[in-house]
Amino acid sequence: AARSSGDAVRSYLPSMTQGFLRRFQLVTQFRHALDSGQVQVHYQPKVALPSREVVGVEALVRWVHPEFGRVDPDEFVPAVEATGLVDALTGFVMECALIRIRKWLDRGLRLSVAVNLSVRNLEDETFPDKVADALRRHDVPPRLLTFELTESGVMADPERCLPVLRRLHGLGVVLAVDDFGTGYSSLAYLRQLPVDEVKIDKSFVLGMGTDLGDLAVVRSIVELGHSLGLQVVAEGVEEDAAKEALVRMGCDIAQGYLISRPLSEDRFEAWLRARTVR
Ligand code: C2E
Ligand code: CA
Ligand code: CA
Ligand code: CA
Repeated sequence: AARSSGDAVRSYLPSMTQGFLRRFQLVTQFRHALDSGQVQVHYQPKVALPSREVVGVEALVRWVHPEFGRVDPDEFVPAVEATGLVDALTGFVMECALIRIRKWLDRGLRLSVAVNLSVRNLEDETFPDKVADALRRHDVPPRLLTFELTESGVMADPERCLPVLRRLHGLGVVLAVDDFGTGYSSLAYLRQLPVDEVKIDKSFVLGMGTDLGDLAVVRSIVELGHSLGLQVVAEGVEEDAAKEALVRMGCDIAQGYLISRPLSEDRFEAWLRARTVR
């Protein structure tokens, strides 16, 4: 009944208002979605180059909404980020990540999990304490937890983010700059940030087979990243030719559809088993 009345209301509204309504619903229903299992974490493997050994996964949220169906994180994460609810999102994903890491350790597997942070987390002075507490509760070595932060997010207000970044780094977790190359800043500022890893944005990796400019960007990020002592990860690796080019450049880690799409917990476990048996 709620569904059909919602449809009736929507049919009278102009589309801009409908977009607003949907965004409003997503934000107001997110807490309930988290608590009722509508939000799940999927895992996408990251492999070392050239060995293709699985070194870890990136945790990516998925929301299966009872009315809208699958809602992409690109739509609901920005909406959630605009509210205090992003704490709950990050907390949820971090808990899932630490439970996974602990289960793998108990089976003798050392796999890291990367969790995406929002700028809001970096502006919250209590965040490092929450992380330290969660690591202790799950008895997980800090090096197995990575946080990915976007270049544009950190650079929007580096003064505000730096204290939290320094404390996170002090805990021993790995810090990665995500979507690297898309921001307006140069690699030089990386020296000022307490980070361990750069993740080349997928737009360059996807374009490198056909666009010499993209190829040059990828090559220079690998070289400069290494000259600063950082681990370099390429995301969006869809083709074997891209993987081979990355191997030649000396890129450390690859992630993308060529290796696997993000998978549900169960499907990831099956993927992992099939791979290690071979
Ligand atoms: P991101 O952190 O840049 O994540 C990588 C995105 O690229 C993911 O999209 C992934 O599914 C996609 N991808 C992976 N391999 C390939 C490939 O080979 N080709 C192409 N074309 N795409 C590939 P997804 O899962 O839709 O996530 C979108 C964005 O939502 C993420 O971008 C991230 O910014 C955000 N996000 C996802 N989960 C979380 C979360 O738990 N917390 C926060 N704050 N943000 C999240
Ligand atoms: Ca990411
Ligand atoms: Ca990215
Ligand atoms: Ca992105």
